[in-house]
Amino acid sequence: MEQKYDVIVVGGGPAGLAAACSAKEAGAGRVLVIERDKEAGGILNQCIHNGFGLHYFKEELTGPEYASRFVDMAKKLGVEILLDTMVLSVEGHQVTACSTAQGLICLEGSAVVLAMGCRERTRGAVAIPGDRPSGIFTAGTAQRYMNIEGWMVGRRVVILGSGDIGLIMARRMTLEGAKVLACVELMPYCNGLNRNIVQCLEDYGIPLYLSHTVTNVEGLHRVEKVTVSQVGPDRKPIPGTEMVFDCDTLLLSVGLIPENELTQKAGIPLDPATKGAYVYENMETREPGVFSCGNVVHVHDLVDFVTAESQKAGKAAAAYAAGVRCPENARVFSVKKAGCVTYTVPQAIRLENVDKRTEISFRVNQVLGESVIEVRDAKKAICTFKREYMAPGEMEHITVPEVLLSEAEGTELTVMVKPQESLRENAADVQAGGEKQ
Ligand SMILES: Cc1cc2nc3c(=O)[nH]c(=O)nc-3n(C[C@H](O)[C@H](O)[C@H](O)COP(=O)(O)OP(=O)(O)OC[C@H]3O[C@@H](n4cnc5c(N)ncnc54)[C@H](O)[C@@H]3O)c2cc1C
Repeated sequence: MEQKYDVIVVGGGPAGLAAACSAKEAGAGRVLVIERDKEAGGILNQCIHNGFGLHYFKEELTGPEYASRFVDMAKKLGVEILLDTMVLSVEGHQVTACSTAQGLICLEGSAVVLAMGCRERTRGAVAIPGDRPSGIFTAGTAQRYMNIEGWMVGRRVVILGSGDIGLIMARRMTLEGAKVLACVELMPYCNGLNRNIVQCLEDYGIPLYLSHTVTNVEGLHRVEKVTVSQVGPDRKPIPGTEMVFDCDTLLLSVGLIPENELTQKAGIPLDPATKGAYVYENMETREPGVFSCGNVVHVHDLVDFVTAESQKAGKAAAAYAAGVRCPENARVFSVKKAGCVTYTVPQAIRLENVDKRTEISFRVNQVLGESVIEVRDAKKAICTFKREYMAPGEMEHITVPEVLLSEAEGTELTVMVKPQESLRENAADVQAGGEKQ
């Protein structure tokens, strides 16, 4: 096997495949995708529901259909895909992997793209009290068992967490003949996409209990009962509000964690807010020539956005492999967050690398009605965007024109959200201040 590649991509999910295809399209010579599973496509292979590709293909596809389009495209473009191979380490641009077929292999890429996706939080991560019987699954594991292995995981189900995977599994279990008794969410709002609340819960009459959590699990061998309690504004259970569900299964949809063990081992700094690598505008990490994209950088709700972000990373990796470098004296803005914004990606923008415009993705920490998003430099707002509705479960994207960036003052840009009420308050304050003078 050849040891040297222009671009090596770790992970053959939608992020890795899109990055590899666009690296090839941008002129990279040898591009290799390394995937630990026995087929490429990542998490999409178990998402047999439709709803993928509405933005990118303008069609409603299932997960495997969306993935297979990229696998076909990769093959057509001459991307090499190494399956059943686990990447063990990335040191600089050296990639060490192992597989049953090839044993230990050491490869070198002129550029490397990290696209390892994320994994689910488990019961241990959220500390649910009670017995430890069988019948407690993360929603994604249950999805894999049902959709790939063909096993029915339970008959009477309670779901903890209202993330998209939980909502999709509520519908999936119902279609397979199970009774989903409740979907329980700790927060006062649902964490999934609006379309999934309607299509997966409301259409099937599945009750959603907001501001509730699971406070006990009972069962000797298999789950027999799950206790659900209401929580107060401090998120602590309120005594006397317990409801007991007779069920045999508890599904957990309580968040995803980017799989960054390789990134950390490579010494690449991570952002505590995203739990992914700090990235520049073209998805390059703080390690020159190492790029990162998809769920390993920040958790996405829609695969179309994973594709768009990863194409950017692939194109930039191809340019790096061809010897293109951002000048050392490039003007760098660090991107900060304020007022309801929980994180931003990228965390830094190099002006010299921005061609016409650059995108910033972020999430908010609460449900907001009419609001204004501001991107501010040291002194003023350089651009604003209006939104009628924002929610933590839906990633936001804004595009900042290069011409406005080049006029920005200072070295920091701050992305902030001003809900309309606070705008009104500010307006009232300004007026009151004016009257005093
Ligand atoms: C259950 C679920 C339902 C979803 N439903 C929808 C939906 O309805 N519509 C929609 O648009 N989006 C949906 N999404 C979101 C979308 O599918 C994901 O955002 C997308 O799959 C992320 O792509 P990725 O390539 O970053 O990660 P993944 O798809 O997770 O791919 C990462 C790949 O990297 C591989 N890998 C990891 N570590 C290594 C290693 N060390 N060596 C080799 N390979 C490695 C993994 O095996 C995996 O194949 C859903 C996501 C989930 C989890």
